[in-house]
Amino acid sequence: MKKILMTLCVLSPTLMFPQDQDKTAYLALQGDTLMFALESHQCTGKIEVFGKTYECTSGYRLIIGVDVAQKPGTYPVTRKVFYDNTPQEEIVRTIQVQERHFPEKQMKPPRFSPVKNRDLEIIEINVALTEGERKYFFQNFSSLFVAPLDAITVTDEFGTKRSYTVWQKKKPVLVTSPPHRGVDLRADSGTPVRAAGNGIVVCASRFSLEGNMVIVYHGSGVYSLYMHLKEFKVHHGESVSLGKIIALSDNTGASAGPHLHFAVKIKGANVDPLYFLRKLGAKVD
Ligand SMILES: [Zn+2]
Repeated sequence: MKKILMTLCVLSPTLMFPQDQDKTAYLALQGDTLMFALESHQCTGKIEVFGKTYECTSGYRLIIGVDVAQKPGTYPVTRKVFYDNTPQEEIVRTIQVQERHFPEKQMKPPRFSPVKNRDLEIIEINVALTEGERKYFFQNFSSLFVAPLDAITVTDEFGTKRSYTVWQKKKPVLVTSPPHRGVDLRADSGTPVRAAGNGIVVCASRFSLEGNMVIVYHGSGVYSLYMHLKEFKVHHGESVSLGKIIALSDNTGASAGPHLHFAVKIKGANVDPLYFLRKLGAKVD
């Protein structure tokens, strides 16, 4: 871990993407995960992007999520560097978010009507970390992640635009659902589901849409979510290490058949979980 961070720092003389040092504008797709590294050992930094503030400490990675529905365009990334709590330096770069073409799918009308931002509320309710815990996970954020299943087969991609037809006054009306905010993975009922990274279980409860759901907080604003589960193998507040079996998969909640809906949120942004895993070192192909 230490070695990885040091390598990143060497590659990144200032706040920037390691692979993209000479450019002032970074390219990203909707649903992307972006990583920054800080080098200076005396400073702390604050990054403002997409209307959110990210704090980071020197020597650690900063992970930013580009939401699936982030409007394509150019956004400023402002880095403020502090010495002794006094702002010393401000670097502004830009992220150019490009439109990603997501699959489109016709489906049957859902049994439940989706509620906007409901899942964010679930996280807010269930995150009961103490300041000490937050700090611990912030500082010990692991760069290593693994796939949540031993075998990965995608049955419905991240970002899929789903629409269905309803009949109003004897006329068909096409209704478009929000984009798919996770990825559906093939999993027979009872398949072991693993924690994608080190973290703390902030939710292991039953919900009407998500079914039995586990949420793991990994620090630095990163959450992984596992839905439609059968049986929990962890409880709220438990620390888990990557690869630990946290549940068995199933078909609970609003689900048309056994599968695992796996999602990653970074400070509320819904990112492509497979992009995220690849960037964080997991083998998912
Ligand atoms: Zn799904």
